[in-house]
Amino acid sequence: MNPDHSKVHDAGERFARYLRETGRRNTPERQLVLSRALAARRFFSVEELGEAINAEGSHLAQATLYATLELLCEAGLLGRKHTARRTLYCPVAAGSAQTVCSVCGKVTALKVPELSAALGRLQPGRFVPSGFYLEIQGMCSICARRQKKKSQKNI
Ligand SMILES: [Zn+2]
Repeated sequence: MNPDHSKVHDAGERFARYLRETGRRNTPERQLVLSRALAARRFFSVEELGEAINAEGSHLAQATLYATLELLCEAGLLGRKHTARRTLYCPVAAGSAQTVCSVCGKVTALKVPELSAALGRLQPGRFVPSGFYLEIQGMCSICARRQKKKSQKNI
């Protein structure tokens, strides 16, 4: 089986369960946002996702996109970060770590089974954790090489 396909399938089941448990409907629009958002390989904005969906001939209102992205964050399928100008989203595997290139935005998942065990040992008071991910910021090898070349030229 294609591993990407099974990943999307698992996420689809998790999202469907989350919607059911929170009394929400699993609509074709929500499924469309889920599949496009999970295909992303880097952080994206609500506008970028809207443009990608429009380019495929579908159209979703920005309010629908935004609301569905927030649901995907609540369900633990997307991570979100706020910059000065906008909110960016990225697919995350629950209980995983990922490296994020601060230059090109490339995201790479890392499997760290010890993280889940560590979370199990934490007792965060009056808080019921539903998932987590760890973001490791830095520079990918391609960007690091480019920057090295650039700094050598400037000498
Ligand atoms: Zn990079």
